[in-house]
Amino acid sequence: MNELNALIARFARIGATEDGGVCRLTGTAVDKEARDLFIREIVDRGLTPKVDAIGNLFGVAILAPESADVVLTGSHLDSQPTGGRYDGVYGVLAGLLAVQAVKERCAANPGAARRNLAVVSWTNEEGARFQPSLTGSSVFTGALRLQDAYACVDGEGIPLGEALSAIGYRGTTQLDQNPVRYVEVHVEQADSLEKSSADIAAVSESWTTRKISVMFEGEYSHTGSTPMALRRDALRAASRAIEALYQEVANENAGAHAAAARISVYPNSPNVVAGRVRVWFEVRHEDEAVVSAISDRFLRRIERESADVRVGLSIAADEKRLGTALDPDGVALVLSAAADLGYKALTLKTSIGHDALALQRCVPSSLIFVPSQGGLSHNPREFTAPEALDKGYAVLTEVLWNMVTAKG
Ligand SMILES: [Zn+2]
Repeated sequence: MNELNALIARFARIGATEDGGVCRLTGTAVDKEARDLFIREIVDRGLTPKVDAIGNLFGVAILAPESADVVLTGSHLDSQPTGGRYDGVYGVLAGLLAVQAVKERCAANPGAARRNLAVVSWTNEEGARFQPSLTGSSVFTGALRLQDAYACVDGEGIPLGEALSAIGYRGTTQLDQNPVRYVEVHVEQADSLEKSSADIAAVSESWTTRKISVMFEGEYSHTGSTPMALRRDALRAASRAIEALYQEVANENAGAHAAAARISVYPNSPNVVAGRVRVWFEVRHEDEAVVSAISDRFLRRIERESADVRVGLSIAADEKRLGTALDPDGVALVLSAAADLGYKALTLKTSIGHDALALQRCVPSSLIFVPSQGGLSHNPREFTAPEALDKGYAVLTEVLWNMVTAKG
């Protein structure tokens, strides 16, 4: 087993679930264990560890002491509750090894490096325990204020700031250098690469996503005694709304993706008609106009249909993440590195959020995909073959070498 695979296997034991997956939520004991191990790996490789205020972890290689600039590479160590072994971890560990490889190449080529290089693991990319997702990278770019990030609470009301303090990762040593590029390698989590028998994708842009959380307001009453005609059942209205979303996506027939994947029922007792229900909906498509058309029509429809069953509704949160174009020079670099290595590469648009998309707000950013078997992700059976992981690592290393040594 090569070093990358051995490292991935080592991290997969931290928060391992019985079905072969990983559950490593932000700010938990297993998150601390993974962070501790990553910091040890950083130090063992002669890199300088840094932990910033939101718990982003950096391993810095000073390759060009006269330069204030740094190229960043990485991803995330947190997972979904039903996470696989590759999502996020792959980009962090491939990044760690690539930084080490570029550092060694610089040592063998004195004077070649013009910039410094660092690996990073961003806090709470998944947004599983704390919302919003992409927390660490968004604080880093200034899109999210540190105090607002600290105040995000989990299902039990514990704020992220407290959870980070509890595991000792509310840090004080931010990155000193000026980030000039960010590159992330990640498993695709869809099946485009597999279907085209390609090794590598250079992601050109992301889809627009609208996340709407709706509170359905009915009335608490006894499930046994309340006459049917008098019930104001918020769960009934919510179930109609979930089906309505699927129908609206089908009616639009534009290939949009949508979900209602989280629900809170109050008081969630078998003997009380649900008086309040919150559902988290999302709609995704590459064209913002399609996202707006579906979601606006959906909202009008559920307001009407809920009123039909005497349930009111209010919008608890409504966030639109616009599609982001990644740095075109980075796309070209990834494609040419893959071609030099003899790999089959293509460009893709992604329907999924990634730290690279958050970073693009302030730093030219690149996202490299390797195939996911069956397109399966956020699932314990997530799998990418070791040879496929190695190809992504090789492309990443060449791209980083180029970025660190390029003139101008
Ligand atoms: Zn991920």
